[in-house]
Amino acid sequence: MFAQVQSKTQAAGATLVAVSKTQSPEKILEIYKQGQRVFGENRVQELLSKVDLLPKDIEWHLIGHLQTNKVKFIAPFVRLIHSVDSLKLLSEIDKEAKKCGRVIDCLLQFHVAQEETKFGLDENEALELLQSPDFQTFTNVRICGVMGMASFSEDQNQVRREFQHLRQIFQNLKSKFFSQRDANGTGGDFFKEISMGMSSDFEIALSEGSTMVRVGSLVFN
Ligand SMILES: *Cc1c(COP(=O)(O)O)cnc(C)c1O
Repeated sequence: MFAQVQSKTQAAGATLVAVSKTQSPEKILEIYKQGQRVFGENRVQELLSKVDLLPKDIEWHLIGHLQTNKVKFIAPFVRLIHSVDSLKLLSEIDKEAKKCGRVIDCLLQFHVAQEETKFGLDENEALELLQSPDFQTFTNVRICGVMGMASFSEDQNQVRREFQHLRQIFQNLKSKFFSQRDANGTGGDFFKEISMGMSSDFEIALSEGSTMVRVGSLVFN
């Protein structure tokens, strides 16, 4: 189904992150050969086990929950971390990015689903993070937008409302924190990504303004 997912994503002007967790390097290479360059993994160990076996021009995204003690392993190469859900984690990413002489792009993950178990911030926690004195000192992370997962629900309206909520959060944060250009003249321009939509709901997500869909099973089937 890769071709269909790719064409629907492209038609909406969004980026397809092919979620390759549980897929073998051979399977990933098959999709790579069809032109896909952006792949997402949700676990650090699994990501590390694949990176060296696959082409160097793959952009690797970390989309799953990230523990602070694992940040150092991905800091040298990760292209985007979708799952930042605490100041502590962001601080660690900043520290490790500095050691590598890099600036690492990050998304803030929000909890917009009904399920209790999902990771993520609520809007107040994000405000607190972005207003904290510590955050102002970070020089090697760049907040590029937001990420969220909708409920695993048959109710399409429920899913749609949750995506709308995430987009609303994105817009609130953009106008509060990222609308002004910063000292080097680039501040607001980077805050533009809304990472939402998976195999079961990526079309709803695209119609609600997703700029990045994370699709696994459908791409590899
Ligand atoms: C697995 C996963 C996806 C993709 O899920 P599919 O249903 O296979 O498309 C997207 N986002 C995250 C965070 C995931 O862990």
